[in-house]
Amino acid sequence: MRTTFLPFSPPFLGSEEIEEMIDTLRSGWISRGPKTTRFEEEFAKRFGCDGALALNSCTAGLHLALRVLDLGPGDEVIAPTMTFAASVNVIEHVGARPVLVDVEPETLNLDPRAVEAAVTERTRALMVVHFGGHPAEMSFLRQLAEQHELGIIEDAAHAISAKYDGQTIGLSPNLTAFSFYATKNLTTGEGGMLTGPSESLERARIFSLHGIDRNAWDRYSSNGDWYYQVVEPGYKYNMSDLQAALGLQQLRKLDRMQERRLEIVDQYRAGLADLTGIGLPTERDHVESAWHLFPIRVRSVELPVSRNQFIEEMTRRKIGTSVHFVPVHMHAFYSRKYGYRVGQFPVSEAAFEELVSLPLHPGLSDEDVSDVIGAVREICAIPKPRARDSRQ
Ligand SMILES: *Cc1c(COP(=O)(O)O)cnc(C)c1O
Repeated sequence: MRTTFLPFSPPFLGSEEIEEMIDTLRSGWISRGPKTTRFEEEFAKRFGCDGALALNSCTAGLHLALRVLDLGPGDEVIAPTMTFAASVNVIEHVGARPVLVDVEPETLNLDPRAVEAAVTERTRALMVVHFGGHPAEMSFLRQLAEQHELGIIEDAAHAISAKYDGQTIGLSPNLTAFSFYATKNLTTGEGGMLTGPSESLERARIFSLHGIDRNAWDRYSSNGDWYYQVVEPGYKYNMSDLQAALGLQQLRKLDRMQERRLEIVDQYRAGLADLTGIGLPTERDHVESAWHLFPIRVRSVELPVSRNQFIEEMTRRKIGTSVHFVPVHMHAFYSRKYGYRVGQFPVSEAAFEELVSLPLHPGLSDEDVSDVIGAVREICAIPKPRARDSRQ
């Protein structure tokens, strides 16, 4: 038994981040400034994107993407129910209607057939989430989008450095939003990055800072540096140099951090493969997952414990876990507003009953990983109670 608690997903920060942060504080420039610009440039260069817009969250990026596509009341956006609510909340924010659909059982990504069935004459865009870092089936979704003239927004909160058919997520012509929240593969504490075509990013950039258009300075005045024009009622979504300081150093370590994630994934697979009551996440041949999550399926019919008991037993063994996600249609707001009921999205609901995410972050030692494996194996070996009353 461990003596200390193993947190589910702490940030992986070192002296480089601390030094860069101190340097930022000493520089006197702590809001958006030179480091944010450098972070955008280095991010774009690292992945080969045309450009990148640093923001204060991925949610902000998704919201701006919808604004850039001019979506609003009367429009429908198709989104998976198996996602974090942020992917869908933003659709509400622009006044459009989120149309939830079910996911594929294997990857928990948008089921292209379900998407096709949900398209109406009001459908304007697809919100494509790359669940756990495993890219969604982009070739089918792109085809559908072309056929019905739909925009695509990629929620790549989990998918930094993931690849689909050899192409890095974020390089497609779609507006793509990454998250640098504390638990994500690269963190700036809070933060996000939007990638996509340069004209779209320029529009998003104006929206991200109160709707101030720098070029309008030239167009409307010869008044000097203090003059500005608000061309749209924008938002306050920019990143700060304090956040970019972390991002610059995290970007430098990203390859190393990803390599460590892959090693841990291999160790989990080797250590858990023979357990029939535990389903392991897969990776399709034509993709490279970013392995943000390692979501296992606790098949309680074959086990002595329910999923909720499994989580309690892990906590008792001092191992933090999480559940990704409570499907969006099961949240109070969405079921109330749109009348969604349990039973409508069987794949997501069945997954939700079984899902547990194991700790997966570069700070895990081999010993930590073997503690996790040991704990899962121990729980699976608990003698079955004779009369099993309920799944709870
Ligand atoms: C974390 C997350 C977001 C939101 O990211 P923020 O940077 O916190 O706004 C959006 N979508 C998914 C799938 C996420 O996991």
